[in-house]
Amino acid sequence: MFIDTHTHLYLDSFSDDRVEVMERALQNGVTRMLLPNIDSGTIQSLYTTTDQYSHICLPMMGLHPNSVKKNFKYELNTIEKQFQYRRFIAVGETGMDLYRNPEFALEQEIAFETQIRWARESGLPIVIHARQSFREIFKVLDKIREPGLKGVFHSFSGDIKEAEKALSYGFYIGINGMVTFKNSNIAGIVAGLPLERILLETDAPFLSPEPFRGKRNESSYLIYIAGKIAEIHRVSIKELADITTGNAERLFKI
Ligand SMILES: [Zn+2]
Repeated sequence: MFIDTHTHLYLDSFSDDRVEVMERALQNGVTRMLLPNIDSGTIQSLYTTTDQYSHICLPMMGLHPNSVKKNFKYELNTIEKQFQYRRFIAVGETGMDLYRNPEFALEQEIAFETQIRWARESGLPIVIHARQSFREIFKVLDKIREPGLKGVFHSFSGDIKEAEKALSYGFYIGINGMVTFKNSNIAGIVAGLPLERILLETDAPFLSPEPFRGKRNESSYLIYIAGKIAEIHRVSIKELADITTGNAERLFKI
């Protein structure tokens, strides 16, 4: 049994065949899917999907760093209100992306710190999106120094030093289809990570693993990511599933 710890199955790219996508995930042993929010514009579809598939899909709530623009205070207000109405398993996704959204770096930092505060107040873990921003994110985490804060660096794309630093906070590392890419350094990094600190994710509909690279991703493809990590660590798929599912259950209290 696997948990896809990061998948956007509520997005429009699944509106024609969401039922089949869920079926295929279940057939491949992906029995639970964790859905991060993006911004105020995705809240309704996130709720619709997690209500319809409430036995297998669990929602998170947060503001994605690439949606942090001029109106980010309005976005944060709208998103913070959701915590009064619903239960979420995490604050996410949050973080900083200086590759796609460099002009709003300062606003992203404020939004990130705000969401860390929500996590602290609610006791929830945070799901961090970090792209060309490890230095800035570590700076925020070092400044806040909140020992109780738990979370994951999802879609990890850093180097070995950044992985070690991420682990030093007690955080998990989210590994997705990039681990199957021939030109990626992620397989090498995974080799040096303890399995006890790895979470499996697809980040669907993005970043399909081989042999589907470039096509729409879906949660059933998690088994290709799992297969690659099991091969790197020389463990059985069952062993890998048990360990990584346990990791996700501990972090998200599910
Ligand atoms: Zn995401």
